Amino acid sequence: MHEMSIVVSIVEIAEDEAKKVLAERISELELDIGTVSGIELDALNFAFESVKYKTMLKNAEIKINIIQAKSKCEDCSFEYKTDNVYNLCPKCNSYRTHIIQGKEMKVKSVTVD
Ligand SMILES: [Zn+2]
Repeated sequence: MHEMSIVVSIVEIAEDEAKKVLAERISELELDIGTVSGIELDALNFAFESVKYKTMLKNAEIKINIIQAKSKCEDCSFEYKTDNVYNLCPKCNSYRTHIIQGKEMKVKSVTVD
């Protein structure tokens, strides 16, 4: 389950942030997760629940912002919502499209006590 290794690195980032301000506990963690990031939210939540009791996130509330994926067409510059990494432009049918948003998996904010 690759979500477990993702959670371990998220916890490290959050704890580093908290230590910078000499905090002992993290009360809230906010994450941005794109719809084509490849992350299963259920698996992510499960992984958090299994590791957080031994970290500074023990009592933290985990907020997840879902970022809707968008693609851009290189031929006609059209931007559109998508749920697939590989997709055709709905306007001109070009396959030369790329994801401009929705692959992210990042720690947006860490709130400490
Ligand atoms: Zn196009």
